[in-house]
Amino acid sequence: MMNGEISKSSSQQLSIENAKQLLNSVDAFLFDCDGVIWKGDKLIDGVPQTLDMLRSLGKKLVFVTNNSTKSRKKYAEKFHSLGIPVNEDEIFSSSFAAAMYLKVNDFPREKKVYVIGEEGILEELKLAGFTALGGPADGKKNPELKSNCLFEHDKSVGAVVVGLDQYINFYKLQYGALCIRENPGCLFIATNRDASGHLTDLQEWPGAGCMVAAVCGATQKEPIVVGKPSTFLMDFLLQKYNITTSRMCMVGDRLDTDILFGQNAGCRTLLVFSGVVNESAFQDLSKELQVQPEYYTNSVSDILKYV
Ligand SMILES: [Mg+2]
Repeated sequence: MMNGEISKSSSQQLSIENAKQLLNSVDAFLFDCDGVIWKGDKLIDGVPQTLDMLRSLGKKLVFVTNNSTKSRKKYAEKFHSLGIPVNEDEIFSSSFAAAMYLKVNDFPREKKVYVIGEEGILEELKLAGFTALGGPADGKKNPELKSNCLFEHDKSVGAVVVGLDQYINFYKLQYGALCIRENPGCLFIATNRDASGHLTDLQEWPGAGCMVAAVCGATQKEPIVVGKPSTFLMDFLLQKYNITTSRMCMVGDRLDTDILFGQNAGCRTLLVFSGVVNESAFQDLSKELQVQPEYYTNSVSDILKYV
């Protein structure tokens, strides 16, 4: 892990003075989505105008989301439905990260992947040429807890991928845990460990960290995390954009994923209060987690306001 010099100085509130400086020293903005661009299906005020302005200045826009329920294709559709033109290849989701992790590590094609998660992970695994089991299809299954009943699992499962899953149940937990415990060398991959997220506009909901913790509890094993704050996805970003990380700015609403990811990768960082962290809790939380953003402000639209 690299910790940039930036992280050692104290955080500054974004202002007319420093916003221009930041803009001039950055070629790409990396945005988290939930709590930054939208809350559930509701856009955060001023976001489309701000993104338009940044594009008109020639800045690259990249969307790095830990929410694995959608594939990059489905995220592009969501952006379009909200009136924001974003290409699929500008989106780096943790569902994509899970599939790419298996790909770059030469996961054998004849092995299968068991998924505790939603469509996004299944779609990305399929696109990458892997065979997946589980996911929504196991959402209504119930294991039979009676004597002489043996829960069977596929011995050719070589990886279990766990992400946000609103249909998590006892069946999936038993299936995933058996694969991890009993299939030799079976990988345990977590898309991310966010404690919560703004899955709807009015409330926070349990995040993938909750599903991952359940599997950790059942297996006493720790996962490989491929989403933020892991910098695994940064390699793919660097392959696509010829921009050094010190000229990228990560914009997010979580200190322990977004801002830490930015710091780990050597990016500039901007924390926004439009998601899970609010201004009154920020300073204490920042000390507790020992993660300090370079800048903080209320919302992404402040960039437009100050420039
Ligand atoms: Mg977020």
